[in-house]
Amino acid sequence: MKDRYDIVIIGGGAAGVSAALSCINRGKSTAVVTNPVETSSLYKAECITNYPGLAAVSGEELCRILREQLEGCGADVVSGRALSVMPLGESFGVAVGSEFCSCSAVILAAGITREKLYPGESEFLGRGVSYCATCDGMLYRGKTVAVIGGGEEAAHDAAFLESIGCTVLHFPKPLRYEIHGGMKADMLVAGGEEHRVDGIFIIKDTVSVTKLVPGLEYADGGIVTDRSMRTNVPGVFAAGDCTGKPYQLAKAAGEGNVAALSACEYIDRKQKEQ
Ligand SMILES: Cc1cc2nc3c(=O)[nH]c(=O)nc-3n(C[C@H](O)[C@H](O)[C@H](O)COP(=O)(O)OP(=O)(O)OC[C@H]3O[C@@H](n4cnc5c(N)ncnc54)[C@H](O)[C@@H]3O)c2cc1C
Repeated sequence: MKDRYDIVIIGGGAAGVSAALSCINRGKSTAVVTNPVETSSLYKAECITNYPGLAAVSGEELCRILREQLEGCGADVVSGRALSVMPLGESFGVAVGSEFCSCSAVILAAGITREKLYPGESEFLGRGVSYCATCDGMLYRGKTVAVIGGGEEAAHDAAFLESIGCTVLHFPKPLRYEIHGGMKADMLVAGGEEHRVDGIFIIKDTVSVTKLVPGLEYADGGIVTDRSMRTNVPGVFAAGDCTGKPYQLAKAAGEGNVAALSACEYIDRKQKEQ
């Protein structure tokens, strides 16, 4: 990942790939931050018959085609989970794991998060709850922390926290979790059992789009946009399933294209104003 891009796209599904192709065609330096291809909802589709220009194709095959097209288009494909998008005056800072880059515009194409937030997760985020062990682990050196998550990344983060001297309680199973505390989170209830902890690391594949960008307007299960795919945050655009129903590939690709053109126009206008 470079330090600086014109546009950062979060999500490498149909919406993100479509957006990347148009950003590159318009001459913008572009990064696409995306999870492994298997995390796309499309990957599980048995047979897709309604995407124009393609005969019946499996979700897995279409994901492979999209990823190959993305990797060949000239955008930087950054493998990892975007953790936050912070407005910094005229630009944005995007955190991916422990790395960071800045950009002039952001396109959210993160699909939908089917995982629900745990009770207390939102309330204590940044106050004892973290999504990134590499970023925040040092704050808990020598303390007791819980890691919730069953994937490879969660196992890696649990090992990392142990290596820096934390006592780690790892919860890989999908139990009912609740987070409690006062000023800071200090207790995890996992499957009905109470655990006193100093910090809780939640490692999921995705970060709810409502948590990615502060102040983003969200209604009826989707990010609110206008017809140009502009959100209420200037410089932030959205496309695909994350803007709401219908959850369909053709809609995602179309919105990705519109979001990209709008983001390019936004950047060109800003440059003329300077
Ligand atoms: C079983 C199934 C069958 C389907 N069949 C059809 C069909 O036949 N026809 C049809 O039109 N549609 C179908 N769909 C719907 C279709 O898959 C979606 O509409 C489409 O994939 C949406 O594209 P998208 O780019 O918006 O999101 P996605 O394809 O979900 O891509 C978003 C990507 O962003 C990644 N991501 C999310 N958050 C982050 C983050 N913080 N950092 C980095 N990466 C992140 C995700 O992991 C994912 O890889 C089906 C869906 C399912 C589940």
